[in-house]
Amino acid sequence: MSPGFTRSVAAIAAAMGFAGSACAENIELGMPVGCEIGQTCYIQNYVDDDPSPSSRDYKCGTLTYDAHNGTDFRVPSLAVQKSGVDVLASASGRVLRTRDGVPDGAFSRTAREVVRDVECGNGVVIEHPGGWETQYCHMANGSLAVKPGDDVARGQRLGRIGLSGLTEYPHLHFTVRYKGATVDPFAYGAAPGSCGSGESLWQPALRARLAYQERAVLNGGFMSGPPTMELIEEASPNGQSVSADSPALVAFVRAIGLKAGDTQGLVIKDPQGQVLAENRAAPLESNKAQYMLFAGKKRPPNGWNHGTYKATYTVERAGQVVFEKQLELAL
Ligand SMILES: [Zn+2]
Repeated sequence: MSPGFTRSVAAIAAAMGFAGSACAENIELGMPVGCEIGQTCYIQNYVDDDPSPSSRDYKCGTLTYDAHNGTDFRVPSLAVQKSGVDVLASASGRVLRTRDGVPDGAFSRTAREVVRDVECGNGVVIEHPGGWETQYCHMANGSLAVKPGDDVARGQRLGRIGLSGLTEYPHLHFTVRYKGATVDPFAYGAAPGSCGSGESLWQPALRARLAYQERAVLNGGFMSGPPTMELIEEASPNGQSVSADSPALVAFVRAIGLKAGDTQGLVIKDPQGQVLAENRAAPLESNKAQYMLFAGKKRPPNGWNHGTYKATYTVERAGQVVFEKQLELAL
C-alpha cells in the first residue's frame, strides 16, 4: 500500500466523519517469524516498559531486561536455527536500510566490544505508511533477501533467523517504532506503570496465539546421558534418541521465564508406573531467563524394559502447581 493511498483513505474517512479514530491510524502487525509460537518458537523477552534502571514487561512480569526495546522471538536450539527459520515482513512497506555480512556467533553482554556498533547484527528496517517502522535484528549471515528501496508485502520473506550481533542464542529481535519512538506492540499507548493496558498492534487473528506465557519449556526430552546446554543446542528438538541398551535414561527440560521462589520437579515413571528417577530442585533464589533440569538413572543389568516412559515436569509456588509439562519416551 503506497503512502498516497493511505492519505486518500484518510481523506475519505475525514469526509465521512470518522477520522481521528486511533484504530484507523495504528499499524496492524503480522507474524515476523515463520514459526509457531509455543511449538517451534517462544517469546523470550518483551519490551522493557519501565523507564527506570529496573525492568518490567507489559504484564508487569519478568520477561524483559533493562532498556530492551523489542520483542525476542527465540527458536529452541541452534539445530533448529540451522535448519532455517524465515524472518517475515510484519506489515507492508518499503525497505529503508539493511545490513548483511556480520558473522553468526553468540556474544555475551560482557563481551560487547566485539559487536560494538553492530549490536543488531544483520538486519532490516522497513518504513510503513503513517510514521511506523519495523526493525528485524540478528539475522543469519548472507540470508537477506531484500535491499533498500524494495517494496515488501506483509508476510514476505526478508531472510532467516540467525545469531549475528549482540545475541547469546538464536532469535529475532523485532522492534516497532512510531515517529521514531519505540513502541511495545503488545501495549501501545499503555499508561506508565499500568499492567496489561494499552492496545495490541497484532492482527486480531494472531492475538490468542501471542497470549502472554509466564513460563515455557523451550526443550524437553530424553537422552542417554546427562544433558548439557551444548547438547541441547545441537540435539534434535526432542532430544537424543534412547534405546533399550542406552547406558542411562535421562529426562531433561530447559525452561524459560522462571521466577524467584519457583520450585521445580522432574519425575520419570517406568512403563509399570513406578518412579524411576526424581529430581526436586531447591526454590530459585532469583529469576532465571533459562534453566536446565534433569533426572535419570543408569542402565539396569538387563537393559531397559520396553514400554512407555513418562516424565512430568512441574513448577510449584506456595504448594500450587503453576506450570506442568509431560514428556513421553516409547522404548
Ligand atoms: Zn532483543
